[in-house]
Parts: sequence; structure tokens; C-alpha cells
Amino acid sequence: MKTSTKTQSNTRIPIITILGHVDHGKTTILDKIRNANVQLKEVGGITQKISAFTIEHEHFGDSKNFSKLTFIDTPGHEAFDLMRKRGGDIADIVLLIVAADDGLKPQTLESIEIIKASRAKPIVVVNKVDLPNLDIEKIKRELANNEILVEGMGGDIPLVQVSGKTGKGIPELLDTIALLIDVEGIRNPDELPDRSTGRAFVLESVKDNSKGNVSTVIATGGELKVGDWLVYGLKGETYIEKLKGFMSETGEKIDSLKAGYGGKIIGVSNLLELGAVVLSSETNDKQLAKNIVTKDEEIRTEVEAEEETPDAWFAEMFGGEEEVDEPVQKLNIIVKSSSEGSLQAILKSLEKVDVDGFSVNVIDSGVGDVWMRDVEMARVTKSIILAFEVQVDNLAAAEARSSKILIRQYDIIYKLVDEVNDVLTAMSTPKETEEDLGDAEIKEIFVLSDGKKVLGGRVSNGLIKRGEKCYVVRGDDIVAEGRIVSLKHGKEDIKETQKGNDFGAIIEPTSANAEVGDKLFCFKIVK
Ligand code: GDP
Repeated sequence: MKTSTKTQSNTRIPIITILGHVDHGKTTILDKIRNANVQLKEVGGITQKISAFTIEHEHFGDSKNFSKLTFIDTPGHEAFDLMRKRGGDIADIVLLIVAADDGLKPQTLESIEIIKASRAKPIVVVNKVDLPNLDIEKIKRELANNEILVEGMGGDIPLVQVSGKTGKGIPELLDTIALLIDVEGIRNPDELPDRSTGRAFVLESVKDNSKGNVSTVIATGGELKVGDWLVYGLKGETYIEKLKGFMSETGEKIDSLKAGYGGKIIGVSNLLELGAVVLSSETNDKQLAKNIVTKDEEIRTEVEAEEETPDAWFAEMFGGEEEVDEPVQKLNIIVKSSSEGSLQAILKSLEKVDVDGFSVNVIDSGVGDVWMRDVEMARVTKSIILAFEVQVDNLAAAEARSSKILIRQYDIIYKLVDEVNDVLTAMSTPKETEEDLGDAEIKEIFVLSDGKKVLGGRVSNGLIKRGEKCYVVRGDDIVAEGRIVSLKHGKEDIKETQKGNDFGAIIEPTSANAEVGDKLFCFKIVK
């Protein structure tokens, strides 16, 4: 298990995020955690609820450093995954929420896939345990079937039973988080580019009439201060501008944001989207800003590259990574559309599409252009993107090209549905592959009285088999293709012949092109 960053990283507050199927209680649990610990203040009559909040937890073993925990209320898998990709895996712990009365559902399974690809440490939180007639052991078994081995099932992933409704089990959950952090440490190296003082990850941005653009961020390294220079890259340009102001999660004006805390940056000149990374510097220098942005990309890519082996980590932690070779029966799709109405119409039509048990699985959908985050999401979930009457952002298109993500644009709904149908038809048709059986040198050619050619040869490798397909190859070119319809050794009909043996073969269609010196490759079609 990876603990290498433990010693250097005790400076940052642990970051915890949450995944699970809709209605399994993510919001309820987070509200319980938040309300038990934070006094939300009313500012201008609006509760400043943001997507990251920090709590203080009392019972923390030996380590006073970990007396605070920051929770990110991700608005779905998309955000979590962007944090993983763009932020260099900023979450230390991920809570997988499973409703006790409902078990594992499609989004739970997706969450599990995302958790496997991430190096955040998972904790399974079985929620709604206040309900009667529950079978928690069944959930544990279902988890095990999906390679999530919890304690008591041969693995060491903690499982905590809670009720978001009554609050039962929430203190134990916080203790478990604290303990896991104590054991595992915080992974994020928090390395900053030279002459940069802080880094933050954008969770969401809104346009505010009085304050301008306001970005909710989580600081992941160093400390960003009012008066410093905010540096970021956007659409190939580097921006540097004065850091005008911060607001804490409770809506108070603050002067700085330290690593591990969530807050808002006020008055940024661009509306930064989810997944953007901003840095701070004490110097107003455009060239330096460019260097910082470039170096930051490098650092985060290194973190990511280092983290490209989550499978190995996962196997180590969860005891084996058996490949389940089941045919994929679902086409994962992400739908972006020009309006809510058209989106609903598309989703309704797609719901009905079924080709021999093959159907679509809508990973995500929304109104608006195709952005980088859609492509990132598609990459992780192996989805295709269907764009209806919307544009594809240039950066997103470039990323899609390099990651081989398919984006299809349409302006007629039935064309979209038709194409999905075609893809499902292709998926449901068994694929044929060629399996090499052997090859032979053609040494002689005889022509029979009926015009058929007999290829006389000797097997060089493997075997030549009657009834199977073959190519006649000259140099790198296939000069003929057919099926071996007759195979003889001398006058005797044989089924197959092995390496070193001579044979006479007739292939159909008759191999008019074959010449002495060509090679005969025999192969089998496997579905
Ligand atoms: P989310 O979609 O995962 O954020 O789920 P919510 O937090 O919105 O919860 C979905 C529904 O489950 C709501 O009606 C909640 O009141 C209910 N719920 C959440 N936690 C519990 C629980 O512990 N027990 C019971 N009985 N209901 C719960």
C-alpha cells in the first residue's frame, strides 16, 4: 500500500469526497456532518453554502495535525473525476454511499469504477440503517462481487453503517476517516512551481451582479493571498491578474486561503469552469506566469503519471484484479443538447433503443456545448459523446482527438437515434478475428484437367488444415484469399498436416494468382 507521501504532507488538511447512486443519501449525510460542526452564517439573507466545507473533529488519535477535515460536495461523478485527472487526484478519501435498502445500483457501479481508477482511499458508507428488514451482508457480498472487499470479507476497506436521517454512526464515520488518514497519510505532494505561492482547483463559477465572476475553489497547495497575483491558463492563453478578494465557506471576507480549505475567489476576469487550476504568485510578471502555468501542468501530469498504476495499487489493496471477461452489453453515452426540451426528447428516445439486449447507459447529460470536462468524463467512463445542436469547444475537440474519444454532432434527433442503433447493432454482432494456424512454402503448382490449381507445399510452421481459410502471400502482399477445400498427402485425403510435411491443397476460389515461392498462411475465423 502506498504511504510514501505521508511524512512530507502533514501540512494540508485532508480532502474527502463522496460518490454513490442518486437518492442514496449523499446530501443528507454531508448536511449532517456539516451542520453538526459548522455554524452557517447568513450573509445578505442567503446561506452561503458552497461545495467545500471544513469541519473540526475532536477524536483524532495521536495526531493533532489532522483535527480538521475538508469535505467536497461534488455535484456528481464528473467533478470527482476531474479532480482526479486535472487536480492530480486531490481527494485523499472517497466515501462510497450505498443505501442499505437499495444495494448496489448503476451509479454505485460507476462510482466503483471511478474509485478503482483513483488513488483516493475508499470507505464504504452504508446509509439508511434506520430502516427495517435490512440485509447488510448481502451488500457486502455485492461489493465483493465488484472487487470492493470490505473488512470481514477478505479485504481492508472500512465499512461504516450510518443513518443520515438520525445521525447514527456519523461520529464513527468521522473517526474512521481520521484513522485512515492517520494510517495512510495524505498523498498529495503539494509541490508548487518555482515562485508560486499557492494552488487552487476550481469547483464551480458563477457571474455575480455585484462581485463579478466568483469561483468556488479548493486550495490544494501553499496559500493564496489577497494582493498576490492570480495566474492561470485558459484556452492556450496565460492570464495574470490581481487577486481581489476571498470569501470563506461561511461567507466571511478573508485575506487568504490555505491548502485544504474551500472558499471563493471574487472578481476573476474570466468565468473559470470546473476543473480549471489557478495559482498565485507574489510577482506581476507575464513571462514568470507562463513558466508557472507550464511547470504546474508538468507537476500535475507527473502526479498523474505516477498515479497511472492505480490498478496495481488496487490489486494490492483489494487482493487481486481478476479480469471479468463479460461482453459489454451497454453503450456508455454522454449527451449534450441545445435545450432542456430536446435533451429530454433525446433521452426518452434513447431509453427505448434495444438491440438484442444491447442498450445505452447514459453516463451524463446536460444542456450546453461540449467542454473539456465532457471529454474527460467520456475518457474515464469509456463513453461516446452525442452533441445535439451544440458546438464543441476547440480544446475539448483537440483532447478528444488525442484521446480517441468519439464526438458525434447532430441537428436531427432521429439521425442521432439511428446512429446509436447502428452502433448497438455492431456491438451485438459477434466480432470475427483471425487466429493463425500455420504457414507453408509453395514449392510446386499443378493444374488439373478441370482447371483447378493444386498448390504443392511444405508446412513451415504450425499446421495447414482442410476447411479453414488461407491467404497466398508474396512478399508483403496478399495475392489470393480462399478456403482450403481439398488437402492431400500423396493420394491420400487428409484433414490436416503438420510442420515439415508435404501436401497438395486446392483452395477456392481457385488461386489463379499463386506462384511457386509464395507462402500459404492458414487461419481460423474466431467469433
Ligand atoms: P442523494 O441524492 O444521494 O444526495 O440523496 P439525498 O441525501 O437527497 O437523500 C435521498 C432521500 O433519502 C431523501 O428523501 C432523504 O430524506 C432520504 N434519506 C437520506 N438518508 C436517509 C437515512 O439515513 N434514512 C432514511 N430513512 N432516509 C434517508
